[in-house]
Amino acid sequence: MHYQILAELYQQLEATPKRLNKTCFLAHFLKRVPDADLPDILLLVQGLVFPSWDERELGMSSKLMMKALGHITGMSPDAIEQNWKKTGDLGLTAEQLVATKKQTTLFSKPLTTAVVMTNLRKLPAQEGSGSVDLKLKLIAELFASATPLEAKYLVRTILGDLRVGAGESVLRDALIWAYLPEQAVVLVQCHDHWTPREKNCLICSKPLEKSKENEVMRQEYNALVTRVQEALDISNDFGEVAKALRHDGVKGLHHLALTIGKPMKSMLFQKAKNIQDGFAIVGKPAALEYKYDGFRINIHRHGHVIRLFTRRLEEVTQQFPDLVEEIKKKIRADNYILDGEVIGVDPKTGRFVPFQEISQRIRRKYDIAATAKRIPVMLHLFDAIVVDNDVMIQLPFQERRKRLQAMIKEDDVIHLANQIITDDEQEAERFYKESLAKGNEGIMMKNLEGIYKPGSRVGYGIKVKPVMETLDLVIVGAEWGEGKRAGWLTSFILACKGNDGFLEIGRVGTGIKEGATEGVSFEQLTELLNPFITSEKGKEITVKPKIVIEVNYEEIQKSQSYGSGYALRFPRLVRLREDRRADESSTLEQVEELYRGQ
Ligand code: AMP
Repeated sequence: MHYQILAELYQQLEATPKRLNKTCFLAHFLKRVPDADLPDILLLVQGLVFPSWDERELGMSSKLMMKALGHITGMSPDAIEQNWKKTGDLGLTAEQLVATKKQTTLFSKPLTTAVVMTNLRKLPAQEGSGSVDLKLKLIAELFASATPLEAKYLVRTILGDLRVGAGESVLRDALIWAYLPEQAVVLVQCHDHWTPREKNCLICSKPLEKSKENEVMRQEYNALVTRVQEALDISNDFGEVAKALRHDGVKGLHHLALTIGKPMKSMLFQKAKNIQDGFAIVGKPAALEYKYDGFRINIHRHGHVIRLFTRRLEEVTQQFPDLVEEIKKKIRADNYILDGEVIGVDPKTGRFVPFQEISQRIRRKYDIAATAKRIPVMLHLFDAIVVDNDVMIQLPFQERRKRLQAMIKEDDVIHLANQIITDDEQEAERFYKESLAKGNEGIMMKNLEGIYKPGSRVGYGIKVKPVMETLDLVIVGAEWGEGKRAGWLTSFILACKGNDGFLEIGRVGTGIKEGATEGVSFEQLTELLNPFITSEKGKEITVKPKIVIEVNYEEIQKSQSYGSGYALRFPRLVRLREDRRADESSTLEQVEELYRGQ
């Protein structure tokens, strides 16, 4: 397919904020995509080059992109940077530059989505000396035949910043609208296409006959959406789901069973305020388990082959040969998919190590054996999804747990998650305290009858953990935003108070509102900080330490990246502390104390 057609779709999607319209345009477009192009196109409309679970990165920064644009257009990096400052979006800059490019390449072949994918997929492999030139060459090849519109979206795709609003749920609905319009009862036919029951057709604008969807239609449609979502959660593959729907309708989805060896989305958990609230959600009696503080792992075994996947669906089998060996010995079944938590153990004290230490093992590509010795791990299993070819996602949790229990021989490394079944709030409180005292994060409370819903945050299981004390931190720097956020400061650098000035501890961009509705907005923070800007380099600015904000976070970690020696995991703005002066912000001592108390 010509990339220009896709670029025109991007433009159409970008121009409409309405989800209904986006879905309709996408569906209309998807009908025209040939089978062979579907897998690539379904990634590209989401702004992806690899599936979301694939850890490969294109490795192109804005800086490198500017260099590439310089090569392609013959303009100086300064001129490109100037233009970028004006547009706030390298995509727009590329569009303008390509439009005014002097020597248009004659007879250039039109760009296709296949060629775009082929070249972009070669980028991650380029490492080491000479790699920058090779990357620039691969990109220049694409731009040589790109129209201005194509250039705009190529740049945004390469930088991982497409922003056309075609997220997973819009795409899911669009697949249904494209391939099963008769069953999507919320649509009506207009000429040879389908459109939502609105006043006018979204495709050809013709006025439609009056017909409103009713409750029954909505329910039928919702059931269809749920069915397709389940198929996506299980297969993680828009391409396969699209082909099944297109050729065999809903019944085609039956073939998309869970496949051992192919990563599957884990079931997620909501948070409860406390134990009482937890029982109200999961019912009584409930299964209570320690909430171990490590990382989620899905174990797939097929005969002798064992593969480990993280919650982000990245494969980490190579990084944990020690665990694979233990699993082979202690888990008795020929094939399975199990769910559990891996935690690191300090070999000297036997205590669990904080998450950031075990995360070193996840990223490790070499010296794996030595790291395994330094940070041995334990596995706590808490669910069984497939065992000996029985797909168990529809079975109640109690039964899955029994099956899990029967197949494990516990030892120092492999454990079942510690569990009690109770309806007694006092007993639950005792169990919670015991779990915290052992260095865990809290407890999980699980509905005994709950099924396993891959990818969903349903109420079959919830977590209870203590709320972290918040910190009051001062903003010492920020970054100018791009696109929608052009002209606003974003990504604020935070600092706590040291003995001798302020010490950086992290960056926050979450918890801040886009528009000036309620809460603190980017615009408001920009206005507050603007008078205090002391220097500006590229998009980065520094400010005088004046503005204090309250921040919560999941965890404090030791870190070399910041002057304080600590970093916040998932910081989030709670509110402005206009009542605080910078010298009243949290001190390094307080941070250290909170770190020790975790
Ligand atoms: P959170 O990451 O705060 O959303 O909490 C959910 C995570 O807790 C899961 O994704 C698991 O990685 C982890 N976890 C630890 N222990 C358990 C357990 N017993 N049951 C389920 N999840 C657990």
